[in-house]
Amino acid sequence: MTDWLDRGAPHVWRPYCQMKTAPAPLPVARTDGARIILEDGRELVDGIASWWTACHGYNHPHIAKAVADQLVRAPHVMFGGLAHAPAYDLARRLAALLPGDLDHVFFAESGSVSVEIAMKMAIQFWINRGVSGRSKFVSFLGGYHGDTLATMTICDPEEGMHSLFSGVMPSQHVVALPLDRDSEAALDALLAEKGYEIAALIVEPRIQGAGGMLIHDDEVLRRLRVLADRHEVLLIFDEIFTGFGRTGDLFACQGAGVTPDIITLSKALTGGTLPLSAAVASRRIFEAFWSDDAEAALMHGPTYMANPLACAAAGASLDLFEAGDWKADVARIELALRRGLEPCRGAAGVVDVRTLGAIGVVEFETAVDAGGLCQQFAELGCWIRPMGKVVYLTPPFVITDAELGRLTAAIQKVLGAPAAAR
Ligand SMILES: *Cc1c(COP(=O)(O)O)cnc(C)c1O
Repeated sequence: MTDWLDRGAPHVWRPYCQMKTAPAPLPVARTDGARIILEDGRELVDGIASWWTACHGYNHPHIAKAVADQLVRAPHVMFGGLAHAPAYDLARRLAALLPGDLDHVFFAESGSVSVEIAMKMAIQFWINRGVSGRSKFVSFLGGYHGDTLATMTICDPEEGMHSLFSGVMPSQHVVALPLDRDSEAALDALLAEKGYEIAALIVEPRIQGAGGMLIHDDEVLRRLRVLADRHEVLLIFDEIFTGFGRTGDLFACQGAGVTPDIITLSKALTGGTLPLSAAVASRRIFEAFWSDDAEAALMHGPTYMANPLACAAAGASLDLFEAGDWKADVARIELALRRGLEPCRGAAGVVDVRTLGAIGVVEFETAVDAGGLCQQFAELGCWIRPMGKVVYLTPPFVITDAELGRLTAAIQKVLGAPAAAR
């Protein structure tokens, strides 16, 4: 039945993987709700929502219908010179949902590319304003913004996945988040000294995801807004992970009451159905490009920009968000994760257990054996894929309490949480 796996395996280059030593991937037959069904019939409860995308669960009938309807109308048309309702409706709805005047939506196909576009917007904003020399970025230790070459330069150089490439690309200012007065003063000093060469600050608001699921207070974001304004640099929020309900608010920026100049969205934008991303700019940014001068335009346009199928999926996903059940689900999941992961505090090697919205994290002192743990979780009917020093859960919002119980029990068991604490 899995003939395709053996025959294709010599030809498929897998992600983030030393293929010589990594365990074989699990062959998937289909998905359903919060379940991944393997070719051998085993059902895994999904604790990761496919890299944080499948917020409404897999195969949601409302999203599936929107995509199927669009598939027969027009699966794709180029976005240069042509327009279609799925993209125009989606842009209007995103602008209405996002805070402040984040009103100008530029679509792309992946998160990394939307970050690249946000970086380009920020650099060209200053050029179009007649300010020269502002082409660098300030980003933060523990941060992750993508795998393409330019986004690699703003990831954490040590914790990130790209340390081998240091020196290949121009270096940026990757510094400590202003978590306290000292780090705030250090950032203030850096901006005072180097502000002339800085286009923007970029941060993952509320939680730095792939860099280690590191949570910070909303106050940190308010400090960043103040510092950005004081030193006249732009502020970019990368909400590719946090957007669409994951932290308990539809967008972290809205929950924190801080409006960035540009925001990037992807991952759960289509409810995990199709690849789509967006860089959304405020009015001030957009206006710097609005000119009689052709050179002032943003010269970017991915081939599959605003793919109609993906935009239709995103529109249907927004319908589900507007129906509103997700809020209670995220609160329910947060409670279950807190209760279910807390006993792991007593397990060997564990240094912290934390939750934020529908995110639960168990952090170890050192990097875990992700492949080995992943296999043990699968044997217990769970799809949980640890990352660096953390074992974490980011389940689909539709997951049931029983399914959540299966995930947290598997983590307790595999990590060896003390029986008395369970
Ligand atoms: C996943 C992620 C990206 C990169 O998105 P891709 O679609 O994988 O290119 C960028 N920023 C953040 C915060 C992410 O979580």
